[in-house]
Amino acid sequence: MDFTIPENLRMMQETIRRFVQRDLEPISRQVEDEDRIPEATVQKMRDLGLFGLAIPASYGGLGLGVLSECLVYEELSKTNACFRSRIGTNNGIGSQGIVIDGTEEQRQKYLPRLASGEWTACFALTEPEAGSDAAAIRTRAELRGDHWVLNGKKHFITNGDIADVATVFAVTDPEKRARGGITAFIVERTFPGYSVGTIERKMGLRGNHTAELVFEDCIVPRENVIGGEAMIGQGFKTAMKVLDRGRLTMGASAVGTAQKLLELSLDYAGQRVQFGRPIAQFQAIQFMLADMATQIYAARQMVHHAAWLRDQRGTAVVKEAAMVKLFCTEMVNRVADMAVQIHGGMGYMKDYPIERFYRDVRLTRIYEGTSEIQRLVIARELLK
Ligand SMILES: Cc1cc2nc3c(=O)[nH]c(=O)nc-3n(C[C@H](O)[C@H](O)[C@H](O)COP(=O)(O)OP(=O)(O)OC[C@H]3O[C@@H](n4cnc5c(N)ncnc54)[C@H](O)[C@@H]3O)c2cc1C
Repeated sequence: MDFTIPENLRMMQETIRRFVQRDLEPISRQVEDEDRIPEATVQKMRDLGLFGLAIPASYGGLGLGVLSECLVYEELSKTNACFRSRIGTNNGIGSQGIVIDGTEEQRQKYLPRLASGEWTACFALTEPEAGSDAAAIRTRAELRGDHWVLNGKKHFITNGDIADVATVFAVTDPEKRARGGITAFIVERTFPGYSVGTIERKMGLRGNHTAELVFEDCIVPRENVIGGEAMIGQGFKTAMKVLDRGRLTMGASAVGTAQKLLELSLDYAGQRVQFGRPIAQFQAIQFMLADMATQIYAARQMVHHAAWLRDQRGTAVVKEAAMVKLFCTEMVNRVADMAVQIHGGMGYMKDYPIERFYRDVRLTRIYEGTSEIQRLVIARELLK
């Protein structure tokens, strides 16, 4: 067994680390206060190729393997989560439907613009009545002549307010639903009948928005069914494949954030003096630091192994990906809680980034499949 990260990947990791330290971290407070990422920073992210990390090189992206992508997300997640969310939604759930199941024409038409960051993508599955039970979506698509007509509403859609193109899941056969009755469509913002509804107010992840998307007799050309006519009714499978890959990068992000929280906690514990000595000298604090480090170590190995496995197989690693999402996101929540505890009252104050991390990591146990849903997936795979 060789656990060495190849030299080229380490160099890439180093580039992202420098970018985070030099360009992202200094504005992370500003982004939090203004609830937006400055356009100049978005442009730097484009210049680095971050919008096309997971898009194949033949369509203008960097075409990274899953392990490489995970290493990038680990570094990117050591600062405000909105930066990762902005590009992660584009590279990941926003464009992977087209990458994995799109026709050649669809890939040629959309991927280069998404990879360069000229366009932003989003993934629209969730609806007010269909969250964990995604097969219960109500958005309908009906074929009328040479186009489909979509009606329905999505909510909680990351990048929904700024996306130029959305992967939208709609019911095409109410009898079959997840078993051949849900279809994935590429819907452009300018298509008639497409509109952005309310921008939702949330606990954290400021700087990156979620929004409702509304489809009122929205006209979608026939050729915009992901994968073409042969894929009509196969959209639920596309959604599951897209989410499977995202679970690994979500795990990597959790590891990166947890590492940052450990580093901040080590610094603080070394400086904060109570009872005449740095709190790092108290065993109670040392035990929390030791628990944080141990859990991060376990989570990181898990991410790297599952990502490597996925790269080797070239196909979904359903059970491992669900385990990674479950373990790593729960781990980062425990770590964030300990980080607040080590920082005492300062951990609760907005002057320090700890409370922001604490709020932002809470989301990771909910979106792209809650912890409970990951457990269901793991159990189903075990009992197959
Ligand atoms: C900030 C944010 C961004 C998001 N971005 C996107 C996006 O870009 N695109 C998109 O499509 N969606 C997005 N989502 C939606 C997200 O994926 C859903 O919120 C998530 O899947 C949970 O669905 P729900 O909120 O309807 O909760 P529910 O499904 O109503 O779940 C409520 C509770 O019940 C539990 N539960 C449900 N079913 C079961 C079961 N069978 N067994 C045990 N427990 C169960 C859940 O685990 C949870 O604890 C986003 C959500 C948020 C909050």
